Amino acid sequence: MKYTRFAAEKILPLFYPVRCPVCQDIVLPKGRRICPLCEDRPQFIKDPVCMKCGREIGETEELCGNCRAHARIFERGFSLMRYDGIGQESIRNFKENGRQEYAVWYAEELVKRRGEVLRALQADAAVPVPLHPNRLRKRGYNQALVLAEELGKRLEIPVMDVLRRTKDTGRQKKLGPEGRRRNLASSIVCGALPDEISRIILVDDVFTTGSTANTCSEALLEAGASAVYVVTVCMAG
Ligand SMILES: [Zn+2]
Ligand SMILES: [Zn+2]
Repeated sequence: MKYTRFAAEKILPLFYPVRCPVCQDIVLPKGRRICPLCEDRPQFIKDPVCMKCGREIGETEELCGNCRAHARIFERGFSLMRYDGIGQESIRNFKENGRQEYAVWYAEELVKRRGEVLRALQADAAVPVPLHPNRLRKRGYNQALVLAEELGKRLEIPVMDVLRRTKDTGRQKKLGPEGRRRNLASSIVCGALPDEISRIILVDDVFTTGSTANTCSEALLEAGASAVYVVTVCMAG
């Protein structure tokens, strides 16, 4: 346990120079995680938000159209910014260009903006959405695990990498909600959860339709969790 914690802390500072999660350039001055001029550029998620998934909605609504139309197994979702041009480019580099260091800024910003409510959830652990072993081998890291480590450190909760994908569901981008649901059904299983781990923060990079979050929540609840909350960097749509 100690060893993995040291390892996780050692991996990220090796990324030097640090790149900006918004413009992808080298961040100056040294020691910062984002350029001063880029700080206000992301479209951060602003209230009012859907009470279920955390998507931005109109003043008079309580739930977004997606949450009205589909059952949600998780309690509530929280996201940092919109999945627009900046968000997409940032996540693409985080996932596919080895920019694991972006997780530090994502986690810092999430805690700065949502820390109070995230701490009030009294979660026992952060659990990353799993990657299929084939894709993990190709990419070399699970971006959701890197993010969960950074978030867990700041919320002072352990990270438990207990979910596994049992089939390679491929890229889901082009599938509609029903296709995603069918594609994901029983594709994620949960390993043993210790008795004291009951309230979970599920961590992922992007919240799209909520199908992945639902499937993971189902597996966690079946394994004995009592409540699942979802924290993502970007919110699509
Ligand atoms: Zn920048
Ligand atoms: Zn919603």
